[in-house]
Amino acid sequence: MNAINQTFAAGGPPFSPDVLTEPLIELEEVSKLYPSGDGMLVALDRVSLTIRRGEYVAIMGQSGSGKSTLMNLIGCLDQPTSGHLRVAGRDVAELDSDELAELRRNVFGFVFQRYNLLATVTAAENVEMPAIYAGLRHRERSERAAALLERLGLGERGHHTPSQLSGGQQQRVSIARALVNGAEVILADEPTGALDSHSGQEVLALLRELNQEGRTILLITHDASVAAQARRIIRIHDGRITDDSKPDSGLAAPAPADSSVPHRRAATALHFLEAVKMALRSLHANLFRTVLTLLGIVIGVASVITMLAVGDGSQQQVIDRISAMGTDLILVRPGAPNIRSTGDIATLTPDDAAAIAGLANVRQAVPERSAGATLRHGNRDYATTVDGTWPSFSDARDWPVEAGSFFTNEDVKSYAPVIVLGRTVADNLFGTGANPIGQYLLVSNIPFEVIGVMAAKGASPMGTDQDDVAFVPLSTGLMRIFGKQYVRSITVRVDDVGQIDDTQAAVTSLLIQRHKTEDFQSRNMSSLLDTVSQTQGTLTLLLGSVAAISLLVGGIGVMNIMLVSVTERTREIGVRMATGARMRDILLQFNAEAVVVCGIGGAIGVALGLVASQIAAGFGIPILLSLPPALAAFGCAFLTGVLFGYLPARKAARLDPVVALSAE
Ligand code: ADP
Ligand code: MG
Repeated sequence: MNAINQTFAAGGPPFSPDVLTEPLIELEEVSKLYPSGDGMLVALDRVSLTIRRGEYVAIMGQSGSGKSTLMNLIGCLDQPTSGHLRVAGRDVAELDSDELAELRRNVFGFVFQRYNLLATVTAAENVEMPAIYAGLRHRERSERAAALLERLGLGERGHHTPSQLSGGQQQRVSIARALVNGAEVILADEPTGALDSHSGQEVLALLRELNQEGRTILLITHDASVAAQARRIIRIHDGRITDDSKPDSGLAAPAPADSSVPHRRAATALHFLEAVKMALRSLHANLFRTVLTLLGIVIGVASVITMLAVGDGSQQQVIDRISAMGTDLILVRPGAPNIRSTGDIATLTPDDAAAIAGLANVRQAVPERSAGATLRHGNRDYATTVDGTWPSFSDARDWPVEAGSFFTNEDVKSYAPVIVLGRTVADNLFGTGANPIGQYLLVSNIPFEVIGVMAAKGASPMGTDQDDVAFVPLSTGLMRIFGKQYVRSITVRVDDVGQIDDTQAAVTSLLIQRHKTEDFQSRNMSSLLDTVSQTQGTLTLLLGSVAAISLLVGGIGVMNIMLVSVTERTREIGVRMATGARMRDILLQFNAEAVVVCGIGGAIGVALGLVASQIAAGFGIPILLSLPPALAAFGCAFLTGVLFGYLPARKAARLDPVVALSAE
């Protein structure tokens, strides 16, 4: 089997022995014009030429005479401006870019004067490259590359990079690369031009050997002794053929009986895994730049995760606090709504609380006033908060006594000097575990009898000790401790939370009726909770936009680097195209690089975000980690790669192979 037959088995004429006698490459009045200045430069002028299978043709001519142009046309790197070029009977003008790539991949093997090896990969990997585009499996590829390198005397050099090889060795590597897909036609553009004469002789001997196997060789040279190797010499001057030495029969040798021509899978796009591997390799080759690019994505993703964790955590803390107080509460405070005042506002009285308690759906209305005070027992002093309130406080707050009893309505009416201690206060004044019931202590030098100790409540969600407080009857407190007749708050507990809004409205209108003005404000815990939840939504949105912006910046960084990379690697792209990469292979390769950068950046960012959140938690900042933000941030990073990698990748894929190859 030969490559051409395979290549065209599907769409071309059926293979028959006649094909062998037919011309392999036919040019009919082929011209190539380049725009130059105000006119057109004619690089090739109506060239007609026929090359048969198995020929060894040297093309000679001065510099600028059109030799390379001719070879690029034959090798399907470029298209004629006019005229017809047929390869194995098919007009290349009728082939689409994928079919042209397939010809370059399977039929032609290019050997360049400057080798054009990829500098960042090993010799063996250079040889394998065209086979990747042909869809060969890794094992097959490396076996083939090893065999070819062995045959070309480079068996030991497979793992060397091009810079570790001599010019002659590099040129042999490039010949191996040309052969890896079983190329039937070798197109060599001044292959010995950069070599010393010994290495040049070796390369020429190799080409002769390949011709003897039956491969067709086209060799560009301006050296007559090199041209003498060929069996046919075509001279070209100013884009015209001036001399075509006696063509040999063209049937001198049989088609290559090359049993090692690989079985090729149907021409699928470059395997994604291969693209990722290539991407990793080229990212590794530019490690510092890759790290900097990564950084943008890493910081973006990590900050999103940390910010969301902190935001969610603090939100959750607020919600916990409100829920801990109870959602069936309405808080009434003195002072007109929307007026911020810090002083002691004298508007709410215990009588207001009594009036509210008479409303429907109100279970309790508990007035409170508190102040800091120092409690003394014997020679022990303890500074705490003394809270004057009503007996219903204990029930309204679901906070029972642990020992003794809470004060009663009688105590309130009679201004009784009795006190109920929080656990912490009792422990500090009387010793842990002691029973202080019936003992006396001084509050601002006024003796109070301890009648009860509250059950321990522990720390609040905000970390303060809720047991560090003492309760006295409101009447006693107002008269003897606080010296004021107004309260600081009325806590209203409702029976049915479903009607809390109606009850709040009733409380408001009752108080307005009593005060003739709205000199108080009320908050209902249930709706406060709703507000907080809504705030959380807004906060999440805000953080989301910050996330989007930081990822956008990261994405622009990725695009910028990728564009630089495409410009820098134009020649590499040209080489890949010359060895058979399709547009979509190049597209996939560069897209894969962007996606891999963003994928790795995203993963590192997620890890860093988790670590940063834990560190924040270590500093006592409330943290709530959940999976969705992490997934979303990673997904965004990945998407960023796809979106921002596309433009540079498309730019790379749209490069003209000839232009790309001639890039510096
Ligand atoms: P040779 O290989 O024989 O030295 P070329 O085939 O490279 O010559 O070039 C033939 C002519 O076409 C030259 O005058 C060259 O300047 C011109 N030429 C080649 N490639 C291009 C191009 N891509 N754009 C414009 N002019 C070109
Ligand atoms: Mg040239």
